[in-house]
Amino acid sequence: MHSVSTLTYQGRPIRLRGTMLNLTDMWRAAGSPEYRRPTSWLILEDTLRFRAHARAHWTELDEPAGDNVVHDHIFHLDPDGLVATARGRNGGTWAHWQLALAYARYLSPAFHLWCNTVVRRAMEWRLGPPAAAHDPLLLHLAQQFRDLHRRLDDVERHAADLMFLLVSAQELVLGNRLEFTGLTRATILKAVAAEPFDGQCPCCLREPVLTEAGRPAPGAEFDHFFHRGLNRPEHGWLICQTCHAELTHGGYLVRFLRMPEFRAFQAAVLEQRRRARQCPGDAAA
Ligand SMILES: [Zn+2]
Repeated sequence: MHSVSTLTYQGRPIRLRGTMLNLTDMWRAAGSPEYRRPTSWLILEDTLRFRAHARAHWTELDEPAGDNVVHDHIFHLDPDGLVATARGRNGGTWAHWQLALAYARYLSPAFHLWCNTVVRRAMEWRLGPPAAAHDPLLLHLAQQFRDLHRRLDDVERHAADLMFLLVSAQELVLGNRLEFTGLTRATILKAVAAEPFDGQCPCCLREPVLTEAGRPAPGAEFDHFFHRGLNRPEHGWLICQTCHAELTHGGYLVRFLRMPEFRAFQAAVLEQRRRARQCPGDAAA
């Protein structure tokens, strides 16, 4: 069975499965144009003609989609193997990439151009780097990338292990819980209220954590990110109930995964403090 991988167009995901591309994702990535949904396109005469031609000249396609897709109750493949509809997690309309590129052209010129480059390359790489067997430079590069990916995986694992050791060491050294002081809480509240958080939980960016009056909303919690013994403003954040429960009970790996969000918040806190030092009057106001 082919696993699902993802391409990204302007921040929006487009899923791939074997030689099949998710047309629904493509439609969304192109800005969800109301009259250009996959279903509207699939019934067009041009589309039907393309499919009929592909059926008749199947050998011209690099490989039939049907070989790459599991027939199951979730994934329903049309008899020509070019289009499939799926329910559930990988839901939506899927099509063989040759057909999907034609759909891209129908969606928009900019999107078509992008697909022509990125999708085609992804599909060619899936079948193996084309000229690699004959080109020592390409062979060398492919090997370098494989090594690099392996090293990056290692680095990430080591960083997670280091965080675990750090937390254990802090436990020995710091021991006691130190609450955030009033001044520290005020700094954190200001950072949450300001751009880019605008009162949303800095961890999930979904739940509001401030009341109209700028006080912590019910359920929101001040969280000691690194350790309950570290209580300076840059050691904590104000997060929603769900995130707090997740971080409290999820262990250090869950916390490690939230590191980028926390770093972003830390930067906002440090910016608050920098401003407060520059204009002490503003900070007191
Ligand atoms: Zn949250």
